[in-house]
Parts: sequence; structure tokens; C-alpha cells
Amino acid sequence: MASLVRALRPLASKATSSARPAVRIARPSRIYQHGARSLSTTMRQRSEVVDITDIPPTPITHYSETETMMADSVSKFANEVIAPKVRDMDEAEEMDPEIVEQLFEQGFMGVEIPEEFGGAGMNFTAAIVGIEELARVDPSVSVMVDVHNTLVNTAVLKYASAELKKKWLPKLATSTVGSFCLSEPVSGSDAFALATKATKTDAGYTITGNKMWITNSMEADFFIVFANLDHSKGYKGISAFIVEKGMKGFSIAKKEKKLGIKASSTCVLNFDDVEIPKGNLLGEEGQGYKYAISLLNEGRIGIAAQMTGLALGAFENAAKYAFERKQFGQAIGDFQGMQHQMAQCYTEIAAARALVYNAARKKEAGEDFVKDAAMAKLFASQVAGRVSGLAIEWMGGMGFVREGIAEKMWRDSKIGAIYEGTSNIQLTTIAKLLKAEYKV
Ligand SMILES: Cc1cc2nc3c(=O)[nH]c(=O)nc-3n(C[C@H](O)[C@H](O)[C@H](O)COP(=O)(O)OP(=O)(O)OC[C@H]3O[C@@H](n4cnc5c(N)ncnc54)[C@H](O)[C@@H]3O)c2cc1C
Repeated sequence: MASLVRALRPLASKATSSARPAVRIARPSRIYQHGARSLSTTMRQRSEVVDITDIPPTPITHYSETETMMADSVSKFANEVIAPKVRDMDEAEEMDPEIVEQLFEQGFMGVEIPEEFGGAGMNFTAAIVGIEELARVDPSVSVMVDVHNTLVNTAVLKYASAELKKKWLPKLATSTVGSFCLSEPVSGSDAFALATKATKTDAGYTITGNKMWITNSMEADFFIVFANLDHSKGYKGISAFIVEKGMKGFSIAKKEKKLGIKASSTCVLNFDDVEIPKGNLLGEEGQGYKYAISLLNEGRIGIAAQMTGLALGAFENAAKYAFERKQFGQAIGDFQGMQHQMAQCYTEIAAARALVYNAARKKEAGEDFVKDAAMAKLFASQVAGRVSGLAIEWMGGMGFVREGIAEKMWRDSKIGAIYEGTSNIQLTTIAKLLKAEYKV
């Protein structure tokens, strides 16, 4: 299969050369989708705002040329390479290392990493497209790609020093899996109550404490770890550090056995006076809480995409069955009772997708997207739970057995309401922003 990085090169350079100067706009604006003015350029992806005022409105879920390529190539890869392994990986509760290798080979692990560092040099929405397409087939593989791209790579791209970028971005794009380590036994929703302690030394820092629930940690060699340098300052003491696998005092204490996304590793990590060189501080001391908030705001759109992909995958799997399976002399999908449920579910998936792509495009246009990201994650998780649950019922007994993907998708859907901020936390964020908007 052709690598996405190679395949996209001509498109990316075309988009870069046709990019118009970016202008910051103060008023609400439309998000665009337009081939020649594709957002898919390394050049424009981070700090710039796109002038979209004179571009005709287009359906929010339409893809640019580059995003279409991403969707097609991920979908092909997911169906040909991942699908045959999904059930076995779930039963074994392990990610197949060949899949991880191929995710790198295909360029899916460095979507936004610029080409000069060996990445695909694409835009944020392209990463969202990839995460969604993967989740249609396996939400476990999807979350590996999601955390690696939207949290880890983004953290390095946004906050790392030039030396750290030079050292790590080529590896993160081609071979090294990353983990994002914020949660602890004592701090989940209240993330900044974390207890892990960092201490300054002559050579740099030491870190002592525990992290819990860390995705990708069995496969990762690169860990972004949040620790507090000065607990007397509260959350303002939190800093982010790069910890490498093999550093003395760093170990995986336990791998969790889970209800869903079983092939995705989730572990407890121990840090016992781990010595961190000065250069492994990510960004500035005391800024860790700001980085985490900003990264998780973006990351939530990824989880929302994972949940819409999951819902669509569960729907498609059951719909195909419903139009084949016959009872009372006709396809069960032709009974009105089934048709109405399917129509309702598909409508909800479409609504969730609209929220996801609206949030992604607002982020890319430089607009405030925090409420949109929270709404997308909240709603997409709810839709994923409802659709995958009904999909089991549409398949009768065949939906209930551990064959195919029906019951797995439902189990996998539960995580959408938990990680990167529970549904209650999303509601709190939305409510807080609504109050700021409407309070007189
Ligand atoms: C499979 C998996 C993978 C994960 N991956 C990562 C990872 O890679 N990195 C990482 O750092 N973390 C990760 N997490 C941690 C995840 O982000 C936390 O589990 C999540 O934030 C919730 O924290 P908690 O589990 O401690 O639940 P708690 O915070 O204890 O919440 C329990 C319940 O209380 C409710 N609640 C808490 N506070 C409030 C409030 N103020 N108002 C209303 N309700 C409230 C919650 O909504 C929830 O229903 C992962 C978790 C899981 C399960």
C-alpha cells in the first residue's frame, strides 16, 4: 500500500503555493472547504487565521482534496489490514505490533508533523478524518493514533524547544509511539490536583509519583509527564517533562484489564526519582496546566471523531445484516419498526459529525472552539452509545455473540463518556461558557 506521506507530497506543495495571506478576522465567519485553497498545508496550520469571508459556504462535512485522500487511504488500510485482526486483538487485549509499524509506514502517526521532520504536513482536520475512519473499524487503533497525533505530537509542535523538535519529531513521525501522562490515582476530573512531584537538581529535575490510565503506554517510548515543581503554587507549579522509556526509576506498574478498547494499552506508571535532563523540560516551568488545557481542548475533537466513527461502523455493520437477514418472508430491515430506528440513528450520527467537523474547522480557522469541542465530544459519545446499543438489538442473537464487531463497538463506546474529560465535565464546560455569554 502506498504511503500517505509520499502520496500527499504533490498536493501539499500545491496547497502551500496557492495559500493566500492569512488575515485575522474579528467577526463570526464561515468555515470553508475549497480544493485549491485547501487548509492542508504545513505552512498555515498552527498560528495563522484564514480569511474566509469571500468563500462561498460549503457543507461542513465536505473534505478538501487532501482530506479526501486521507479518508480513502485510511479506510482502505483499516478494511484491508486492521479489520481481519480486530477480534483477535480484542480477545488478546493487545495491539498487533505489525499494525503499529504500518501506521507509521502509512504516515498516519505524523499527520500534522511538517514534511521537513518526516511527517505528512497535513492539517488538523485531516487527522480528525483519519481518527474517524479508523474508529469505523477499530476504536482501539483509532485512540492510539488520536492520542499520538492530537496530544503528543501537538504538544511537541506547540511547546518544545528547537532541539527537542529536531530530536523527537522525526521519531514521532516514523517509529516512536507517544503517551500523554496527566491522570493519577488522586486526580482524574480534578486533573490539576496531581501529586507527582518534580524537584530541581543541578543537572535538571527528578520526578517522583504515579500516573494512572495512560493510553499507549505499553507501546510508547516517549512520555509527556505532568508534575508539580512547587505544590505551594497549586496548579501554577505544574510543568511538563519528556520522559523516555528506559530512564532509571521509570516503570510500568500495571496494565489494566478493561471493558472496551481492550487492544489499546492503559497502564499505571511509576516514577521513582527519575532523573530528567534540563533539556527535557517541555516549554516553560509552571506552564504545564495551560498546555494541558489547550491540548485537551483540541484532543476532545479527536475523541468526538472516534465516537462518530464508532457509531457509523456499528450502524453500517448492523444495517448490512438487517437487509440480508429474513424473517416472516422479508428482510428485517424492511419492517417499519426497524426502518424508523435506523433512520433515527443515522440522523444522530450525521448531527454528531456536523458538530465534530464544525469544531475542527473552527479550530483551524483560529476561532474559539472550546464550547464546540465539548459539545461534539459530549454528543458524539452519547450517539455512539445509543447507536451501537441498538445495532446489537437489530442483529438479534448475532449481535450478542463475540463474533464480528457489534458487541465490541458497544463496549468500546463507553469510554467516550470518560476519557479526556467525562460527560459531566463537558457539560460543566459548556454551561460555564453559556453563563459567560448570556449572563447580563
Ligand atoms: C481507557 C482509559 C484511557 C485513558 N487514557 C488517559 C491518558 O492517556 N492520559 C491521561 O492522562 N489520562 C487518561 N485517562 C484518564 C481519564 O481522563 C480519566 O479517567 C477521566 O478524566 C476521569 O477521571 P476519573 O477516572 O478519576 O473519574 P472521577 O474524576 O473520579 O469521576 C467519577 C465521576 O464523578 C463525576 N464528577 C467528577 N467531578 C465532577 C464535577 N465537578 N461535576 C460533576 N461530576 C463530576 C465524573 O463525571 C464521573 O462521572 C484514561 C482513562 C481511561 C479509562
